Amino acid sequence: MTITTQVAIIGAGPAGSLLSQILGRAGIDSVVVERSSRSHVLERIRAGVLEWGSVEVLRDAGVGERMDADGHVHDGASIVWGGRDHLFIDINRHVGSHFMSYGQTPLQEDLYAAAAERGARFIFEAPDVELHDVLGDRPAITFTANGESHRVEADFVVGCDGYHGVARQAIPSTVLRTFEKEYPFGWLGIMSETPPLPDIVYANHERGFALASQRNPMLSRYYVQCPLDDALDDWSDDRFWSELTTRLGPTIGGQVVTGPSIEKSIAPLRSFVAEPMRYGNLFLAGDAAHIVPPTGAKGLNLAISDVHYLSRGLIQHYGDGVDTYLDSYSDMALRRVWSAVRFSWWMTKLLHRFPDQTEFDQRTQEVELDYLASSAFAQASVAEQYAGLPFEI
Ligand SMILES: Cc1cc2nc3c(=O)[nH]c(=O)nc-3n(C[C@H](O)[C@H](O)[C@H](O)COP(=O)(O)OP(=O)(O)OC[C@H]3O[C@@H](n4cnc5c(N)ncnc54)[C@H](O)[C@@H]3O)c2cc1C
Repeated sequence: MTITTQVAIIGAGPAGSLLSQILGRAGIDSVVVERSSRSHVLERIRAGVLEWGSVEVLRDAGVGERMDADGHVHDGASIVWGGRDHLFIDINRHVGSHFMSYGQTPLQEDLYAAAAERGARFIFEAPDVELHDVLGDRPAITFTANGESHRVEADFVVGCDGYHGVARQAIPSTVLRTFEKEYPFGWLGIMSETPPLPDIVYANHERGFALASQRNPMLSRYYVQCPLDDALDDWSDDRFWSELTTRLGPTIGGQVVTGPSIEKSIAPLRSFVAEPMRYGNLFLAGDAAHIVPPTGAKGLNLAISDVHYLSRGLIQHYGDGVDTYLDSYSDMALRRVWSAVRFSWWMTKLLHRFPDQTEFDQRTQEVELDYLASSAFAQASVAEQYAGLPFEI
């Protein structure tokens, strides 16, 4: 069966479903093809921090209503270390901005609900997507779904299929350049149906990094740094809470409301960038082109900013017959990606204990934290990057 459309999108995560939503509202037809089931995508527990620019993109895309009702707007975030009281990075004071806690899971639900409302074409459980003729005028993707072979022919193919997807592999190795950094630890994360702390709190403790985050008033997300070869069975809930509260210190750790975990997982930390983000009529967006360690809370936000830039290019292409934005998409998106990659690497380096950390490394880390505590300029720089740099015009 052959389907024709304007834009074929591979992957129905946040990037693919948001791109379909923005294009659909602009009258541009798309088909989204996803490897997994709808319920599998909705069950994944992932990001929860939205930059203010992301909040505005989501509102403009018509999926901001529940986010605005249920999301928690923050003026800043805290850091604790060295047995001190916490340092609050006041984003509102320094850069006049905010960020919002709102889970990727409800956001994904909002995007699927909006897709259903406008009758968008999403095809799930298509495990064998292949790309064809991406350098030609009529690129296509083929796949099997419900036991039938399908071919989607389009003007453009967009790979929103995450780090393990197929789209990036369609770019020849002579063209694609990749940059990668792996970190020698993971994050053990738990979700619990308990009231979170009022603020997001990062901790650098001699036993390792910890993070208190949140999804909604009765859903907390906490992480502790752990060795990469730890197994989930090594971490009972009691051990997790004890480790978390120790690392957050007596004042903040004492405020944590504990309870049974409803989800527990270990994730490795990685930085990865693939360049360019365009090859002929194939574009990459989101985790398909880049991964950041979650320390800077940038992964979901980069997926949203890529989609913002790319949808602007496609709308200009179909509306005005002009390709200025499409032609600058890869360079423009990559400038923002590298900035977030650098910030996420810096936050990771500042807040974690590395297994091979020397006393010299330790002292320079401490002095950097002390400088951050003493300098309004240093705090303003962190505030500006955490809140998210403005989009390029
Ligand atoms: C534990 C964890 C915590 C995180 N915390 C944060 C955070 O606090 N803040 C933040 O900003 N980011 C965070 N992130 C990152 C964020 O979740 C991702 O950056 C975001 O999901 C990227 O969206 P995406 O649509 O580009 O990719 P994905 O969400 O990976 O979606 C890609 C989709 O493509 C599908 N797919 C893959 N291969 C194929 C194929 N061959 N054919 C068809 N479909 C395919 C996948 O099934 C998936 O549904 C976190 C990630 C993890 C894992």
